[in-house]
Amino acid sequence: MAKKHILIFSPNAITSQFFERALPDPSAYKVESASTLAELENTLKKRQADLLVVDESSSSKQGNSADVFFGQLADLIDRNPETPVILLTSTPTKDKLNKAIHIGVIACLEVPLQASALISAVEGAIQRGHRLREWARLESRRSTKSLQQRIDDLEALQIVSRSITASLELDKVLTAVVDAAVELTGAEEGSLLLLEEGSNNLYMRAARNFGDDFVRTFRLPVEDTLPGQVLQSGKPVIIDEKTPKKIKTAYLVRSIMYVPLIIQGRAIGLLGVDNRQSVQTFSEYHLKLVSTLADYAAIAIENARLYASSSAERKKLETILTQIADGVIVLDHEDRLVMINQSARKAFNVEEEQPLGKPIQQVVKHSDLIEILSQDNTHPSRSEIVLEDGRVLYTQTSPIPEVGMVATMQDITRLKELDRIKSDFVSTVSHDLRSPLTAILGYIDLMERVGPVNDKQKEFLHRIDTSVQNITTLINDLLDLGRIEAGFDIRKEYVSLAILVEHALESLKEQARKKKLSLTHSVEADLPQVYGIPSQLRQMLSNLFHNAMKYTPAGGYIHIQVGRENEQIILRVEDDGQGIPIAEQPHIYDKFYRASNVSIDIPGTGLGLAIVKSVVDNHKGRIWLDSKPGRGSKFTVVLPLDSPSREQISTK
Ligand code: ADP
Repeated sequence: MAKKHILIFSPNAITSQFFERALPDPSAYKVESASTLAELENTLKKRQADLLVVDESSSSKQGNSADVFFGQLADLIDRNPETPVILLTSTPTKDKLNKAIHIGVIACLEVPLQASALISAVEGAIQRGHRLREWARLESRRSTKSLQQRIDDLEALQIVSRSITASLELDKVLTAVVDAAVELTGAEEGSLLLLEEGSNNLYMRAARNFGDDFVRTFRLPVEDTLPGQVLQSGKPVIIDEKTPKKIKTAYLVRSIMYVPLIIQGRAIGLLGVDNRQSVQTFSEYHLKLVSTLADYAAIAIENARLYASSSAERKKLETILTQIADGVIVLDHEDRLVMINQSARKAFNVEEEQPLGKPIQQVVKHSDLIEILSQDNTHPSRSEIVLEDGRVLYTQTSPIPEVGMVATMQDITRLKELDRIKSDFVSTVSHDLRSPLTAILGYIDLMERVGPVNDKQKEFLHRIDTSVQNITTLINDLLDLGRIEAGFDIRKEYVSLAILVEHALESLKEQARKKKLSLTHSVEADLPQVYGIPSQLRQMLSNLFHNAMKYTPAGGYIHIQVGRENEQIILRVEDDGQGIPIAEQPHIYDKFYRASNVSIDIPGTGLGLAIVKSVVDNHKGRIWLDSKPGRGSKFTVVLPLDSPSREQISTK
């Protein structure tokens, strides 16, 4: 057996010698002494003593008062709570003994020491110290155990909380919540009750250790029942056999705990645990754990509700998109299909069952659509697509932030047909009008020749002449447009756009000089020829150049540029004239459209750009405009350098 270590703090070496001699079995003890406080502290640091004997004279020798001595002693005892302390004093006054007991001294021995008193005090103190240490050991084991239990509980809670965020399956989450409630409280049964929609009854949404039939058929009215009371008050209850309360549940229990499930301040159900056999009761600690679980369950139910309502909304939206007559195609940023509705599927013969997520080129074979969808779609754009069956789809693409882009397609075949009928009608009427107008112009010319006319009559004749000229221009434009749209002029050949530009500018030079416009141009050398319809291309250039002249005030500049980029010819007509209001720019190719900033003094029919657009379309080209009001306009025309074999001559 290990020797008992007795540490004696005394200025007197005789004290420790007396101890050694007096103790009945010296081999069972190791007596050590310290004559100063520092020496004592040092020894204690090295090894814990089984008994500390403090001689009061050690302090008085140092010149300390009794108060200082007791202060130091109290401090020593505080720092070594498991070591019993015996005080040696030559003056055991009542006051001193009281003080010593107050600060935790176990026994006092009077000096000179008596061997018998010393032995019994030492043995008693050592035993006491032993018991103290044993108690401390057990206590620390107990608290470590309860700490571990709490850590386990927290871990269990964390697992449930993780399952809530990871799973949208409400059944799974609620079952996990009830399981955890039963595990953490050590209860026999657990249940999660929710209010049944449309009635005032509670039903069991999840349960542990209840029979399936019982769970299925369980219905408990809210009125006059314990769960109902918790639901209405929103406050939890713990009830056991000691609680004088009549428990009204659907079954007999010894103890039960119900915690409300609260969503937005309203209780929607309860989480309960109970014991039918066990006498174990529920504590406040259990209540805290189950309340946390009830919060988890409430969050899960709310999440599920929100998810259900958002997915119902999504389904509704999907149904609408699927059923509408317009085609809708949504692509992501990598041109992969995100959505295609029924109408678009039909239009582009998409038979694939699961086309979503695939690149659009794999799903749709229509080259025009693929080209439109693979263009830079950071800006909205519009175009027309002709389907194999002759139908025409007006297609608009728009970027959708964080998704990609959407293309909507409207069937405008009927409108196109009406447009054609209207154009035919206009052409016929225009044609028939042209002869009488020519006659009128002829007679105006003759009027002055057949006899004298006065100044007033001359002015009137001039006005008639101008008006008839305007009508003739309009009719000519209408006829040109009708012809181009009808596709009468289908003879294509290789044309040098550079030469056409030079010719067109030649005829404008005089006009530009008169208006004091700076008219410049740059044509790239060795431009390849365009395969196209010369008359139409000539008209396109003439209309663009005339517009630039018309809408640029005196002193302005016009610059024309023709060049090649990849497999296309690029024509740019730029002026620093009045520009076009941004909001009106999408309409300028419409027939008869004139922008709101055009003065009535500037003649025009609103057909020039419609003709240009038709010519560009007939040559499978593109046209766009960059313009700011008051800052000029720039029209850019791109014509592809297609080989004749690939060229599809429009016969519209
Ligand atoms: P118009 O016979 O009126 O010139 P167009 O079809 O040629 O008809 O042009 C349509 C409209 O576009 C014009 O009325 C004018 O408002 C605008 N526009 C065309 N070209 C220009 C330009 N270079 N500068 C400013 N506005 C222009």
